[in-house]
Amino acid sequence: MKQLKKYKKILNKTVKSIGDCTDHLYKEGWAEASSGNLSIDVSNSIPGKKIKNEQWLLITRSGCRFRETARRPWNDVLLIRTGSKKGIRIEYSGKKNARPTSELPTHKLIHDFYRKKKTRGTAVIHTHPTYIIALTHLKDYRQTDILNRLLVSIHPEIKAFIPEGVGFVPYLPPGSERIAVATQNAIEKHRVIIWEKHGCIAVADDLDRALDLIMIMEKAARIFFIARSAGFDLQELSQQQVDDLTNIKKR
Ligand SMILES: [Zn+2]
Repeated sequence: MKQLKKYKKILNKTVKSIGDCTDHLYKEGWAEASSGNLSIDVSNSIPGKKIKNEQWLLITRSGCRFRETARRPWNDVLLIRTGSKKGIRIEYSGKKNARPTSELPTHKLIHDFYRKKKTRGTAVIHTHPTYIIALTHLKDYRQTDILNRLLVSIHPEIKAFIPEGVGFVPYLPPGSERIAVATQNAIEKHRVIIWEKHGCIAVADDLDRALDLIMIMEKAARIFFIARSAGFDLQELSQQQVDDLTNIKKR
């Protein structure tokens, strides 16, 4: 309880943003049962001297249900410290014996990457957008360039939000070190990465911006299936039309 008081003062707003985001993910239908996980690098908010490579992350706990998290976000998060020789230390846990999400390896490697780039305050969302997952079941679109051409052809404004395009990681076991490493490799070029038959990862300065990236990508995938269900194939943009989108800005 002493710890809760200590961190509540400095992290309350951030934890509330986690609750708001989990609520949204659940209502979209992208966080069934206890799926989905979020993390935010809060190193800059924690007072005191830090050792080299140290990072403080707020991260959702394993087994939490996002449909409940909005009501009591402090119960479903952990504050962990990474980067020391002692490994990962739990500084605050909303629930006794709680463990961080099983996708911790991916979150940790992404935050490591951004720390090396000297950017802090990075928010990471992992969720299961229905139509995006469905799209990865189609063999024809399991290639980064083909997938991006499709998404931009369906919803050209995606280029304003994700100009570098989305990354794609072929199927690997959920929660594994292998999926974490493959994601870390993709994160060098992409802020949004689709995991085959599983979901996606989005990284941004805060959770709202990360959510924007997922929403626009999912919208494109949904239009694809609506068109297919109506019995017609979508026509791709020409190379000239794609090139014309290079300087498109967010509205
Ligand atoms: Zn997942």
